[in-house]
Amino acid sequence: MRWIITSAWPYAHGTPHLGNIVSSLLSADIFTRFLRIQGHEVIYVTGSDEHGTPIEVKAIQLGVKPKDLTDKVHNEILKILKGFKIEPDNYTRTHNEVHIQFVREVFDKIYKNGYIFTKKDKLLYCPRDKIYLPDRFVIGKCPYCGYESARGDQCENCGRLLTPTELINPRCVICGETPIVKESIHYYFDLTKFESILYKWISESKTLSENAKNFSIQMLKQGLKPRSVTRNNRWGIPAPFPDASDLTIYVWFDAVLGYVSAVKELFLKRDMDPDKWKEWWWDKDTNVAFFIGKDNIPFHTIIFPALLLGTHDPYTLKFHIGSTEWLTFEGKKFSKSKGIGIWGEEAISLLPADYWRYTLTLIRPETKDTDFTWKILEYAVNEELNNHIGNLVHRVLKLIAKYNGYKVIPSSITRDSEKELNKLVYEVSAKVEELYYNMRFQRVINEVMKVVKRANAVINDERPWELYKTDYNAFKSMIHTLAKVIRDIAIMLYPIIPDTSIKIFDYLNLPMQNLRWDIIGKDFDHEVEIKRDFKPLFKKIDIEELKKKLSLMRGEHIKIDENYLKKLDLRVGKILEAEYKKGSTKIIRLKVDIGDKIIKILGGLGEYYKPTDLIGKTVVVVANIKEKKIMGEYSEGMLLAAIDEGGGISLLTPDREDVKAGTRVG
Ligand SMILES: [Zn+2]
Ligand SMILES: [Zn+2]
Repeated sequence: MRWIITSAWPYAHGTPHLGNIVSSLLSADIFTRFLRIQGHEVIYVTGSDEHGTPIEVKAIQLGVKPKDLTDKVHNEILKILKGFKIEPDNYTRTHNEVHIQFVREVFDKIYKNGYIFTKKDKLLYCPRDKIYLPDRFVIGKCPYCGYESARGDQCENCGRLLTPTELINPRCVICGETPIVKESIHYYFDLTKFESILYKWISESKTLSENAKNFSIQMLKQGLKPRSVTRNNRWGIPAPFPDASDLTIYVWFDAVLGYVSAVKELFLKRDMDPDKWKEWWWDKDTNVAFFIGKDNIPFHTIIFPALLLGTHDPYTLKFHIGSTEWLTFEGKKFSKSKGIGIWGEEAISLLPADYWRYTLTLIRPETKDTDFTWKILEYAVNEELNNHIGNLVHRVLKLIAKYNGYKVIPSSITRDSEKELNKLVYEVSAKVEELYYNMRFQRVINEVMKVVKRANAVINDERPWELYKTDYNAFKSMIHTLAKVIRDIAIMLYPIIPDTSIKIFDYLNLPMQNLRWDIIGKDFDHEVEIKRDFKPLFKKIDIEELKKKLSLMRGEHIKIDENYLKKLDLRVGKILEAEYKKGSTKIIRLKVDIGDKIIKILGGLGEYYKPTDLIGKTVVVVANIKEKKIMGEYSEGMLLAAIDEGGGISLLTPDREDVKAGTRVG
């Protein structure tokens, strides 16, 4: 069978944390590997989602181009994928020619097919930031459930899709100001025309999970509304509609089409027929699996299928949704600013891929929210991986090496314990196969662990090293059975811990093409001589050490000596002039007297101070900091300020006002 696997595309304004990784990228990789060893034809595509206002705004704040920002994040994500052994066939990005062209073609078709209409829209506009506020940049009270911080596109609490004008008491996310309503023409995708066909498709689908079905049917019963597909952003895909030269496609409608364009691009990269992607996407029998967080379900069961249907092209709708609940970190929500969580780039410098892959699968939030704790990581690695799996594999290899001259000789079983072990492998592999197909990876581990524990118990009970002396035939057969079992464990766990499985195959000196599901339970077909240089598969971890390493990586709790501080030229400064930088209400340009000279400083103070309040203020300046370009202009120093959790700024100032400009601060 053909399968297209994909996962929620990481939004390129920051790297993914453990929770993002387990629910999307890692899950898709596990499923892909499983399907491959099952013998399916599989393509796994995903990429960085680059467009939209959050990135545009962040780029403005940093004084860089949006593309510079996403280049950096995209490359970081590539490194994280490598470190996690997550191997999509195509990890692409939405700001690429193939995708941009494809999105324009799709919307052109949908327009010509009569599913797009224009409407004068009342949009929220922030008079302070002077921009139209996109949906998710407006927050307010949800009109349905009363949640106070509902976003303009969707209420995080009740999951309903919203439009920002529905919000009660809306506020600008950037500055907190109440936005004003302004009119602008926008292009709408008429979702109402797809209600009945979507209803029929969802209710009759044999591949969608019950969870995804119920959620989507409920939404359909509430009725769909046309959705605006254009935005006033510059950073995006130009809308292909007439008279829409100043509009771009809303990032959500652009990114989901990446599932198709990434397949198209993959075949182009492989120098294949440019229409090859149609053999996959335009075939009703191709399965498509999406690995996403639960809040993304409606985009994959309503909006994406409606877009495909709107083209009138014969896209497959054999959709499978592997949605997850939330992962928390030590009981709290992941938060970069508060330092709660572990991010991809940190994880890969702390531990090898399989340690994370195994632990994250063990706590994958499949049916309810789950919590990552350091304790669970310690348990997963030291207990399950090291003491159970690693120990079993090492014991078996050592028995083969020490008592049988490194040889495994195929032989028929002699003892009941072997028969039972074989039966258990047979039952567990059938169960595990079903669990993988149902995307219940968490339970795969529990099942396989039954085999691991039983095999360890058989070694303890049967004492093969004694059998060797009393009954060599029984010993020989026992060794063969145990070698088969560790091979089969390697196959069953390959999707989750691929490096380890490959290592087991290598130590057993088995050909990699035998790393296939249909090998499970089979006798070795000839004598095998195992490798002589096998080593323990895992190393125990020390949580305190890992925490220390992480803390060092983040530059927390580093003690510095006095001389280090002396390198900083800290001085008292007097602000002589202050004005907004042209085109910005956030950046203020200051002229500051620092004793021996007057320097220019640009700072993001506009949200907290008016220029007139700053003139005459006594402040603390870092005078020897490297010049930095901010919005095209050099800043020659930095002001010290207290910064609260929400990013609020309060400038530091000497206790007495009569301190002279240029006075050393130490
Ligand atoms: Zn709500
Ligand atoms: Zn604002």
